[in-house]
Formats: sequence, C-alpha cells, structure tokens
Amino acid sequence: MKKIAIYGKGGIGKSTTVSNLSAALARRGLKVMQIGCDPKADSTKGLTGGQPITSVLDVLKVKKTRSTLDDLVVEGDLGVLCVEAGGPTPGIGCAGRGIISAFDRLEELDAWGRLRPDVVLFDVLGDVVCGGFAMPMRKGYADEVAIVSSGEMMALYAAHNIANALANFATRGYARLAGVIQNSRNIADEDELVRRAAAEIKTRVLGIIPRCDLVQQAEDQGRTVVACFPDSQQAAVYHELTRLLVPDITAPASGRPHLAALS
Ligand code: ADP
Ligand code: MG
Repeated sequence: MKKIAIYGKGGIGKSTTVSNLSAALARRGLKVMQIGCDPKADSTKGLTGGQPITSVLDVLKVKKTRSTLDDLVVEGDLGVLCVEAGGPTPGIGCAGRGIISAFDRLEELDAWGRLRPDVVLFDVLGDVVCGGFAMPMRKGYADEVAIVSSGEMMALYAAHNIANALANFATRGYARLAGVIQNSRNIADEDELVRRAAAEIKTRVLGIIPRCDLVQQAEDQGRTVVACFPDSQQAAVYHELTRLLVPDITAPASGRPHLAALS
C-alpha cells in the first residue's frame, strides 16, 4: 500500500488534481482511497457526481462509537473509496483537531487494513500546518508528500511552510518530500518561478499541469477530466503524473473485499 499526501494552499487545485490522480490510478486497475482533509469537505465531489458526502466528523457527531466503515466511506466513480474528514462548526472548535478525531476513528475501525487499498491519497489543506494538518505526513500515514503549487507568491509561500514542517519531522522517519506538482495559473515566468522555489526547498517539479477549460467542463458534471475526457491531453498529464508518483504497483488479480462485504 502506497500512501501519498498532497498538500497545498486553499484554492490552488489540490482536490481537482488529487481526484484526477485517483481516477487515473483506478483506470490502471488499482484500488484507490481518497481522503479529503480540508474542512470544506469537498475533496471527492469530482468522484461522486458533484454530491457532497457526509464527513467523518459529521457522522461521529450523530453516531459516535456506533459508526461503521460503511458510514464513513463512499464508493465513487471508478470504484475510488471516498472519505471526507470534515471540519468543525465555523467559530467553534479546531479544524486540525477535527482531522485527528477523524483519523482516530478510521484507525479504530481498521479502515486501511480492511479495505486494503493499493494507494491512499490524502488531500490536505496546507495553509496552516498545525498538529492536525501535519497528521497525514506523520509516521504511519503518508510515505510521501507532494505539494501542489502555482507560480503565485502565496501558493509558493504555503509550499515553503509545508516543506519546513516536513523538515521538522525528517529525523523521525516520517514522510519524505517527493516534489512539487505545478498547477498552472498562466502567470508570467511561471515554470521558472516554480522550478526555482522547488530547488530552494531541495526538491524537484514532478510535473506541470496546464490550466485547461476541460477541468471546469468535467467539474460541471461532478466528474474528473480523466473520466469525462479520457482521450484528452489533460487526462494524459494526470496519467503521466501517476506513473511518477506510483511507478511500481500492479493491480492484484482478485480477492479484495468490496464495501458491501464489510457492513
Ligand atoms: P483546492 O482543493 O486546492 O482548494 P480545487 O481543486 O477545489 O482547489 O480547485 C479550485 C478551482 O480551480 C476549481 O474550480 C477548479 O475547477 C479550478 N482548477 C483547478 N485546477 C485547474 C486546472 N488545471 N485548469 C483549470 N482550472 C483548474
Ligand atoms: Mg480542496
């Protein structure tokens, strides 16, 4: 099982990128689990026809210890297992703490052991890398971190913060930085700005995703570009990125439990 956390500034295109990566990995025949770790709880909506799913925190508020994996995990497009950690009521409670509670419950239910995905992608808001938002990069969760950034200053600033947080954990055997994924905004000298920023944080640019209208067209249908426009150049970019991030896993022939078998 390979676990990758994708961090980046809010609004930079993490969920779009992660959902397309999930879809591309699923197309390779891999079992993928996507876990949204943003209080917005909209990471997976491109895999669920645009329909929001109930977050782990919202389920916990009602069902507490009676909650089952079936309540927390929804099977989306191409069989991707979708989870949203969720967030607190605005003004009350701490978003980071919310992620910790959601992860605790998933662990109690042995979500990873029972569903046995080949790849787990965490989609994490990286504006503030407090204890909760740092959780996915800590031991036992992600093996690797990739940072989504455009060439815009605030996105690169967030990328720096995320890299600093990772560096603080480096000696403890936590996740390693795999690189930066450029999600282009078409600003001047963007490729060079991102390349330089990546070098400053001692990593590389894994790939450059063009800004593309097909993203919105797919989004309007609650779907990914990979599912909606499989033969497009944009879909090919997401497929290529998955080969870099997950080069070596092949799909097992059979024998994996489906969600229905777990209830
Ligand atoms: P985040 O998860 O980082 O908050 P989203 O994935 O929700 O950001 O993306 C924010 C907006 O940017 C969405 O409306 C999405 O359609 C758009 N977007 C993201 N990536 C691209 C792209 N490569 N080309 C065009 N639009 C994009
Ligand atoms: Mg998002």
